[in-house]
Amino acid sequence: MNENRLTRIPLSRPTVLGTELDYVAQSLGQSHLAGDGKFTKLCHGLIEQITASPKALLTHSCTGALEMMGLLIDLKPGDEVILPSFTFVSTANAIALRGATPVFVDINPATLTIEPVEAAAAVTPKTRAIMAVHYAGIAADMDPLREITDNHGLVLLEDAAQALGATYRGRPCGSLGDLGAISFHETKNVVSGEGGALTVNDLRFAERAEIIREKGTNRSRFFRGEIDKYTWVDVGSSYLPSEIVAAFLYAQLQTTEQINDIRRAIFARYMDAFQELASKGRVTLPTVPADRVSNGHIFYLLLDDAEDRDRFMDHMREHDVSAAFHYVPLHDAPAGLRYGRVSGDLIHTQQTYDRLVRLPNFHELGESIDRVIGAALAYCE
Ligand SMILES: *Cc1c(COP(=O)(O)O)cnc(C)c1O
Repeated sequence: MNENRLTRIPLSRPTVLGTELDYVAQSLGQSHLAGDGKFTKLCHGLIEQITASPKALLTHSCTGALEMMGLLIDLKPGDEVILPSFTFVSTANAIALRGATPVFVDINPATLTIEPVEAAAAVTPKTRAIMAVHYAGIAADMDPLREITDNHGLVLLEDAAQALGATYRGRPCGSLGDLGAISFHETKNVVSGEGGALTVNDLRFAERAEIIREKGTNRSRFFRGEIDKYTWVDVGSSYLPSEIVAAFLYAQLQTTEQINDIRRAIFARYMDAFQELASKGRVTLPTVPADRVSNGHIFYLLLDDAEDRDRFMDHMREHDVSAAFHYVPLHDAPAGLRYGRVSGDLIHTQQTYDRLVRLPNFHELGESIDRVIGAALAYCE
C-alpha cells in the first residue's frame, strides 16, 4: 500500500476483497432484491458451517439479532438478564427494550469477559438469562456459565458480534449459547457495511425466530411450500437484509479464515513487539487462554491508569496513529442507571475502561504496523 506519511492510520478500515461486486451484480440480475433469496440462503449455509450452529438467519445488524433474542425468550417487565457492564450498548438495549432489567456484573480481568462467579452470585428468582459477550474475538468462559444456566433453568445467550471464527474448547463461538448474535458491521472482521446474524442452537426457538424476523408472519414456511398462504401469527418486525447486502456478505464469508488469519497475524506481531515492555510490567497484554482460539478482532494494551492511557492516546495522535479506549461502562451511564441494576462491585470493569487502549488492526494495515509499534514503544520506553 502506498502510505502517505501525513495520513493518520485509522483504528479500523472495512475489508473489501474486490469480489463482492461480482456477487452484487449477480444479485441485481435476479428479479429478487428483497431478503431471503439465493444469496441469503448461501450465507445461511456458510454461517452454519463456520459456527457449527444448526440454524443461522441473516439480520440487518447484530443489534437486530440481539433484539430478536429478547422477543424469542419473551422477556417482560420484572425479568432480569445478567450481562457484563463492559460491552456495547446493543447488548443491554435488547433487554431494556422489552422492559426487562439488565443486571450488570464484573468481568474477568484477564479475558475481559463476564466472570462466571459474579454471574452466579447475581441470579435471583427473576433471572431469565445470562448474556455472555466474547470481547475482542476471545470467547467468554462458557462451560461454567452453562452450568449456572442449567442449574437454574435459564437461557444462555451469546453476543458473538466480534467472534466469528473464534473457538472455545474446540467449539465455535455462535454455537455455545442457546441463541447467538453475530455482527457484520464495517468495523468487524467480516463485513457487509451493516449486517448481522442470529444463530439458533436450541431448535425450540427455530420456527418462531423465522416468524419474528418476517414481521410476525409464517412467510418462511410459505416460501418453502409448506403452507399455501401466509398470515400474521405472532409479533415481529423486519429483521432481514436485502439480497444486495447478502450478495456482498457472501463474498466475505467465503474468505472468513483468510480475513481472520490476517488479523491474527497483526495481533501476533503486536504481542511480539510489546513482550519486553510487558515483562518489565510497563504494559499488560491481552490474554488468550489455552482453551480458546481468537479471531484476532481487536488488539489492545492495558496501561497504568486513565491518565497514562490518555497521554498514550495523545502521543499516538501526534504521530498520526489512531488509538481508542473501550468501553464506557454501561452500569453508571445515564440509561444504565435508569434501566439497569448492578450486582457485586465492578472494579475490573472500571479499571479496564481506565487502562485499555486499542491499536489499529485491519486487513490492509500492512507495513504501517511498524509506525504504530514505533510510536507506541517511543511513548512507553
Ligand atoms: C459491534 C457490536 C454489536 C453491534 O453490532 P451491529 O451489527 O453494529 O448492530 C453488539 N455487541 C458487540 C459486543 C459488538 O461489538
